[in-house]
Amino acid sequence: MVRHSSRIELSQSAMRHNINFLRSILGPHTDIALVVKANAYGHGIAPILKMGEKSGIGRFAVASSHEAAEVLENASERTRVLIMGILYDEDLTWAVESELEFYVFDLQRLEKAVTVAQKIGKPARIHLEIETGGNRTGLAFEDLDRAVKLIKAGKKHLHLVGVCSHLAGAETFAAHFRIARQVEAFNRLKKRFDQRKLAPEMYHLASSAASIAMPEVAFDMVRIGTAAYGIWPSPDVYNQYLLRSGQRELSHTLTRVMSWKTDVMHVKTVKKDEFIGYGTSFQAYRDMRIAVMPLGYANGYPREMSNRGHVLIHGRKAPVVGSVNMNMFMADISSIPDVQIGDEVVLIGRQKRNSISLRSFSEFSSALNNEFVSRLPAAIPRTIVR
Ligand SMILES: *Cc1c(COP(=O)(O)O)cnc(C)c1O
Repeated sequence: MVRHSSRIELSQSAMRHNINFLRSILGPHTDIALVVKANAYGHGIAPILKMGEKSGIGRFAVASSHEAAEVLENASERTRVLIMGILYDEDLTWAVESELEFYVFDLQRLEKAVTVAQKIGKPARIHLEIETGGNRTGLAFEDLDRAVKLIKAGKKHLHLVGVCSHLAGAETFAAHFRIARQVEAFNRLKKRFDQRKLAPEMYHLASSAASIAMPEVAFDMVRIGTAAYGIWPSPDVYNQYLLRSGQRELSHTLTRVMSWKTDVMHVKTVKKDEFIGYGTSFQAYRDMRIAVMPLGYANGYPREMSNRGHVLIHGRKAPVVGSVNMNMFMADISSIPDVQIGDEVVLIGRQKRNSISLRSFSEFSSALNNEFVSRLPAAIPRTIVR
């Protein structure tokens, strides 16, 4: 295969560690569904599935039927796949046939699910998503009675796997008054389901932030993306965790799964007062040595890193100089001796004693960690390492 301009390494032990960390918070009665939407937050669906299954994950959640198809291709027989977002009517037969689980948040979908299931003689495996105040998807409160009737009437063709909702920003303290109301609403609705003897297999509400910051709302299952990849959902969640656990060491908690590497493409000397790259954003303040890297913003390295980011070469920090181009960028290697074409360059991750964190990307750009990783091009090769 022709070599790509960068590569991503995924640490199996880091993923296992993160999942065990979450399990230790959640206890033995809460299951973890691993969220692998957006190409597993940019990590790569196929390798993350393999790694997740190895860590004992039995259910993977995606945002769309299209992503579900990719999961199906790579998942083992017993693995359950859950579509939390878009599933078109035209794909409903395929979904039921493939025994996919999917969110239902309106009455039409509920009726259609019954019809399709009846036709092909297999039950539709549904998670009823209810509105609790997030005002995104979610079955409207006034449709609840009708939904319950439909589920009861369609009992032979429906498998009510879950009743669930989604919290609107458990990541930030500022939103916690909203979250508290949602939790109240969810508990009220749960009671109604329990009373009607329509109990689902599981109730689920929390994603990474709530699972860590308020594990009392974890119920039977949590849907975990961010934290499983070793990314803290937010500084607030990290603080909350420290306050609760009394723990002050970050190193025992979440570990980054991803490393991203490339290599030096070209090395040259630039005379004092010359400009580097396009335009005039960087002028050499002395004679400098620079390295050119074979990737740019088209390959996932954000333009926001222009004149701000760092890479690691020979275990030392080299500042990005000039603007990040579409397919190239430059770094100052004046203080790093003997840099050669082909030397390893770390964009994210560890090299000798130094490391570049994901956080360093989101501090420069206004983007959240998740926005940055989920945009990493699918074309970058991913390999699983220990
Ligand atoms: C993305 C998503 C999650 C996972 O959220 P994280 O914060 O990444 O853990 C959970 N539930 C739903 C409905 C989602 O869309």
